[in-house]
Formats: sequence, C-alpha cells, structure tokens
Amino acid sequence: MAEKRDYYEVLGVDKNASEDEIKKAYRKVAKQYHPDLNPGDKAAEEKFKEANEAYEVLSDSEKKARYDQYGHAGVDPNFGAGGNPFGGFGGFGDAFDLGDLFGNLFGGFGGGARQQNPNAPRKGSTVQTSVTISFEEAAKGCKKTVRINRVDTCSECGGTGCQKGTSAETCKTCGGRGTVNVQQRTPFGVMSTSRQCSDCGGRGKIIKNPCSKCRGTGFETKQATVEIDIPAGIDDRQALSVRGGGNKGLNGGPNGDLRVNVNVRPHPFFERDGFDVWCDFTVTYAQAALGDTLYVPTLDGKVKYELPAGTQPGEVFRFRGRGIAQLGGRGRGDQFVRIIVDVPKNLNQRQKDLLRQFNDSLPNKPKNNVDDGKTVGEEKRGFFDKFKL
Ligand SMILES: [Zn+2]
Ligand SMILES: [Zn+2]
Repeated sequence: MAEKRDYYEVLGVDKNASEDEIKKAYRKVAKQYHPDLNPGDKAAEEKFKEANEAYEVLSDSEKKARYDQYGHAGVDPNFGAGGNPFGGFGGFGDAFDLGDLFGNLFGGFGGGARQQNPNAPRKGSTVQTSVTISFEEAAKGCKKTVRINRVDTCSECGGTGCQKGTSAETCKTCGGRGTVNVQQRTPFGVMSTSRQCSDCGGRGKIIKNPCSKCRGTGFETKQATVEIDIPAGIDDRQALSVRGGGNKGLNGGPNGDLRVNVNVRPHPFFERDGFDVWCDFTVTYAQAALGDTLYVPTLDGKVKYELPAGTQPGEVFRFRGRGIAQLGGRGRGDQFVRIIVDVPKNLNQRQKDLLRQFNDSLPNKPKNNVDDGKTVGEEKRGFFDKFKL
C-alpha cells in the first residue's frame, strides 16, 4: 500500500484550522474530485476517497486528537487489541482498566452506594463510539457496522473469576452472609450492629485461585461488531443509542447501552437546512434570458426542470418532496435551487461585437447610468479593490 498522505495536506488546511475551516476545505476538495464531475477518472475517485477519509478523522474531535498524537496508526480501524498502544480503537480503553473495574465501570455508585449489597445486579456502563456517514446516507437512512471494545463475560472462567477446576469458597468470617455483627459497649449498654464483612468485601465468597485471564473479576474486554440502523433524516452531531450494546452488567444486571455519535460529511453541492436541501445551479446569461431545459441534481438523481425565460439571478425554485426524510417517517423536506447567472469573462472580439449589438437593441436600458452634470470625478477599479468585500 502506498504511503498515506497527511490528512491536513489532503484537505489543504493548517493544523490549527477550526471546525468550520475544515468543513469548507473538505467541500472544496470534494467538489473538485466528485465522481459526478469526473466520470471514469480513477485518479479523481481516489482523491475523493482520500478527502472523505481525511474529513472523517479531522471532523471528529476525538479521532483528530489521536491523529495529532499518533498519526495514521492512531486512527487505523484495523488496529486491533493486540499490540495496540491505545487499548482499543475506540479510545475508551482506559475505562476498562481491570484494576478500576468495580470502581468505574458500573454506574449507580451514588452517595452511600458503597453500603449497597455488592451482589446486587447493576447495569453495565455505556460504550461510546462514532461513525461517519455521507450526506445521502443521512438523508435516506443506512446500515453501518461499527467495531467496538466492550466488557463481556471472561471467556476463560465463564464469569466465575476462578481458575479452571476451582471454585469460590464461602467466606469463613461471615459464613457467606457478607455481613458481620459487631458488639459495641456504650454507656447505654451493649449495642449490636451489622457491618459489611471486610474479609470478602461483602460478597460472601472468597476466590482463592483467581482466573489468570481476568484476575478474578469475571470480565474481559472483547472486540465486537455491531450493526447499526441509522434512521433517515439524522443530522450531523446527533447520536443513537443501542440498548444493551454496551458493557456487560454486573451480577446479572442488564448490559449498558452503546452510544453512537453520528458525523455527517458535508455534500459538495447540497446544503442542509432542517429537512430541506439547498443547492446552487449555474446557468448562462442566455439560458436565463431565453429559458432552457435544466437537469438538476437531487438526492434521487437528476430532475428535469423547465427554466422560464427571464429568470433573474438569485431566483429560487422548489422541488417538493425532494429533500431529506423526516425522522419518524413524516415525509420529506423540499429541495430549493438557487439560480446563479454566470457572467462571461474573456470574450473574443466577435462575442463582444454581438453583445454590443444586443445591448444597443435593448429598448429599456437602466436610466441611472448617465452623466447628469453633477458627476464629481473619476475612479478606476484598482488592483487592491479586488480584495475588498
Ligand atoms: Zn476469568
Ligand atoms: Zn465475608
């Protein structure tokens, strides 16, 4: 495989570029190499793919941070658990540190929660991941496969935490109850209180020979492939939750959820406004003046449109129901097409003559362009005027 180009270089942006600058740069490159504009051009297709890949990483703050630190290796989806310095490609490896397993992994440790029965079922914690989809996929819905690391039952011991052939022993101190009675002498007499057994941590059992794979926790981090149904109409920076797709629950509690943050690549031609789609369509001066048959790109392919004669620059027409599917199946938005009139540059002599002839033939010229005797001077458009907005 060829050496990968730097993602910042691919999009032509600086390392300190803002989210907005990255988005703009992507749209520019994507427009230049879009397959629709370069049919059959393999080199352009590769560049388009390269830009998509670069955008997927640089538009996602977490992936971008890993790319900035580790380069391409930091965001390689094939970088499995084996030898991966990040403990998994999801960037959440740290949460699975087995030493912290019971401290961090299971929610519900609120104030006073430490007094809870350690054998009580608890829901597993949420696993986060992100997925990048195209504008079209967001508009129409799609299925995506994500690879995640999540906590599951230890495959070595089946979740018992004990080495093969051994089992947990009942705690002798508490007799398996998990609590011990403590007698305390007070000025009012002897009081008896119940406390969590410190020898077994309240579990009632002691693992003498912990499983070497999970160090007695009964859990291990496994790679999983999850298919996600992404509904039509989803927008950039929205998230989906897959119930039970996260980390394994404790003591038979339900699994945590999988949270999928969805990033949508901007489209080179279309822009989204709610569930409507906007695009610019450039026509010549003659087309605008005379009218013409246009073939306008939509999310469903090209649509024929009869441009009326005398269409003005900036005029907008609408295709009903050609927009983005609304979440919940409530139909689709519309597509709005803004007409841009291309004023010709670098005319040849014949063209200039024809246009002058045409101009002279106009009966109703704008009446404001005359010397009324109050003209105060003469200004020329200079080189630097170009840079004024
Ligand atoms: Zn184990
Ligand atoms: Zn005990």
